[in-house]
Amino acid sequence: MNCRECKEHLYEYLDRELTPAVEQEIRQHLTDCPPCGEQFDFEKLFLGFLRARCRAQGAPADLKRRILDELLDE
Ligand SMILES: [Zn+2]
Repeated sequence: MNCRECKEHLYEYLDRELTPAVEQEIRQHLTDCPPCGEQFDFEKLFLGFLRARCRAQGAPADLKRRILDELLDE
């Protein structure tokens, strides 16, 4: 697992869409790699915030995904 792979799977990880093996690899990487760990903490908070808003406003899932993808590109 490298940083790029970790970031690619971050949302799947947050959504618990990964297999236990991949999930384990990500958890390991987040522990070993402070920058990714920090990003994960941020994404987790952000996703929670976004979900609360989307629930209120009924934003489509693909819009949410696009916002998240743009943030990841920064
Ligand atoms: Zn990393």
